Amino acid sequence: MICVLKQNVSGEREEQLIKWLKSLGLGVHISEGERQTVLGLIGDTSKVDADLIESLDIVEAVRRVSEPYKTATRQFHPADSVVDVGGVKVGEGLTIIAGPCSVESEEQLVGIAREIKKSGAHILRGGAFKPRTSPYSFQGLKEEGLKLLSVAKKETGLPIVTELMDIDHIDLFDDVDCIQIGARNMQNYELLKELGHINKPVLLKRGLANTINELLMSAEYIMSGGNENVILCERGIRTFETATRNTLDLSIIPVLREKTHLPVIIDPSHATGKANLVPPMALAAVAAGADGVMIEVHNDPMHALCDGAQSLTPARFDQLADQMRKVREVVK
Ligand code: PEP
Ligand code: MN
Repeated sequence: MICVLKQNVSGEREEQLIKWLKSLGLGVHISEGERQTVLGLIGDTSKVDADLIESLDIVEAVRRVSEPYKTATRQFHPADSVVDVGGVKVGEGLTIIAGPCSVESEEQLVGIAREIKKSGAHILRGGAFKPRTSPYSFQGLKEEGLKLLSVAKKETGLPIVTELMDIDHIDLFDDVDCIQIGARNMQNYELLKELGHINKPVLLKRGLANTINELLMSAEYIMSGGNENVILCERGIRTFETATRNTLDLSIIPVLREKTHLPVIIDPSHATGKANLVPPMALAAVAAGADGVMIEVHNDPMHALCDGAQSLTPARFDQLADQMRKVREVVK
């Protein structure tokens, strides 16, 4: 249920109302807009007398919320959310995230970080713990990989995003600016619940075969625990098509725009699996209104330890970054 307050209600009256709502056993989520405050009432609202609340002189309207994702829904929070990732405001302007699939060495990572920074990227990506289909494939440099990410951050000033697969590793992630939850863990609910209790942004990827509503429910797991710094990421879904690694569902952008206030970014690298398909899909994502893109870049794609086929060279990325900024200018 949401309760929209009238304009210019005094803080004292607002507090009295919130106290009373809490005494009814409800959780109250406060969203301060520029002119109006919206209270999201969470919990069992079936016995709440909406007419009674609406009759209060400081209340403009009361509405029941139909979506089960109470905190992620735009109904509670009409304004777009902006998530601060180490000083980069995701949701304000176009955010470009780039870097290798996996951290391989200091030389590789710092070299790529310097290149993408020159091209105007805002955040460095790189996997230290890698979720690989085969247990015989490179599993990532793990703790050593995280240390190298810190080195690259220090060298370039770029904030870092990297994947967490096991909550037991969280103490190693102190210097990480944004935690990525990969497609395979989108419905690892115990992991998501733990992320609700920490104060770090989470980049939540859509699962390989998950609906948009399921993605929002997973975001809700994190947000209902108190951590509202969630960024949603589309990375392609499984369909019958085999010409591409996955099928990029770009219609998710306008759909999510309606349903949620959270920022939406697109990963065309994992979606297509082929470097030559990444630039057109990245540009299409920007044209469709994405808040950002995440692109795999490798200095030597032929010899990458993971996902070389879909990685752009720094030179190709540089050209794409320029094109993306131009498209953004046109559609913003
Ligand atoms: C990744 O970003 O490196 C990754 C493993 O992505 P996904 O979880 O989307 O497969
Ligand atoms: Mn990858």
